[in-house]
Amino acid sequence: MRFLPQLFANNRSWAASHVAQDPNFFGRLCAIQKPDYLWIGCADSRVPANEIVGLAPGSLFVHRNVGNLVRADDPNCLAVVQYAVEQLKVSHIIVTGHYHCGGVQAAMGPPMTDPLEGWITPVRHLHREHEAQLAALPEGEARIDRLCELNVLAQVRVLSELPLVREAWARGQSLAIHGWIYDLRDGLLRDLEVTVDA
Ligand SMILES: [Zn+2]
Repeated sequence: MRFLPQLFANNRSWAASHVAQDPNFFGRLCAIQKPDYLWIGCADSRVPANEIVGLAPGSLFVHRNVGNLVRADDPNCLAVVQYAVEQLKVSHIIVTGHYHCGGVQAAMGPPMTDPLEGWITPVRHLHREHEAQLAALPEGEARIDRLCELNVLAQVRVLSELPLVREAWARGQSLAIHGWIYDLRDGLLRDLEVTVDA
């Protein structure tokens, strides 16, 4: 018995539609991976990286986790960044947060159990750090959304301070780090205009 038959059916028609448009589509992808972008986003099912920016397979190297966090103590994320920068030589790292983020919201609420609680600890710290600014906003959505933005800025900062990123810049490698936010309400991305490129 095959489980989840609908997903396999979807997959067959997806593959067939690519081949119909370009018979060598998968052959070419197989031969080389040369994406120009690393996307670091939230695991949220409503924020599918490739779809949002209209990029086909092969164009976007992707890392996603709860709250789109970059932590210097997370070997998973660091390995992705290292591979993207040193092997794939991407020119852009894009940290994309999103409004209504459950991970960010959780960091404003009561403690949870580990490992989730430990994972979002940096966002709790960020919340405390910006408590006065957030308290000046209307309670609820506005505060969560502002913390979602601040969270993106924090990840851009962490990335720009990573030794492997500093070394890439020192080598003269072209590498820009961007901070974007996605709005679930209208499907649009906004550039937070915090791009760092050296
Ligand atoms: Zn999220």
